[in-house]
Amino acid sequence: MRLFKVHLDEGDVMTVLPIKTLPEPVLRKRAKRVTSIDNSVKKLVADMQETLHADPGRVGLAAPQIGVSLRVVVIGLPDEEDIIMINPEIVKKKGERRVSEGCLSIPGYMGELNRAETVTAKWRNLNGKEVRVKAEGLLAQAIEHEIDHLNGWLYIDHMDDTDSLHKIDTDNIEI
Ligand code: ZN
Repeated sequence: MRLFKVHLDEGDVMTVLPIKTLPEPVLRKRAKRVTSIDNSVKKLVADMQETLHADPGRVGLAAPQIGVSLRVVVIGLPDEEDIIMINPEIVKKKGERRVSEGCLSIPGYMGELNRAETVTAKWRNLNGKEVRVKAEGLLAQAIEHEIDHLNGWLYIDHMDDTDSLHKIDTDNIEI
């Protein structure tokens, strides 16, 4: 749900952008920190929200996935307001659990890997205010997955055995 609307300059149009998939090199680069939350960053966030909500199965998107190597993430869990993260960092991880995961940049596949039980992360929101959240469940998983994207990591890098990747139908949740 996009309760939070980004204010754009008059004439700016939000665009659904194509998602970069493997082996696009931008997916393997460490993304740069945002130094100022200017109009170009706001436009990027608006386009990322538009792209995320173009398909109801999408729960998260990192800027490198649309070809922009900046530390910006949008997470949109079902029935929740979008979370916009500028320069997100994981502060603490606790516990371990086995999850199934897919990625928009590796379409048509899912794999099993370990993720933390709880993740404490901090970031700046679009107003530049620091936000700190302790997350569990799908949100914790999405935070780890999307911050990995900012560091050039993909979920398959956490799998002990990529032979266990399996093909899926398209309507699954992908992050
Ligand atoms: Zn992904």
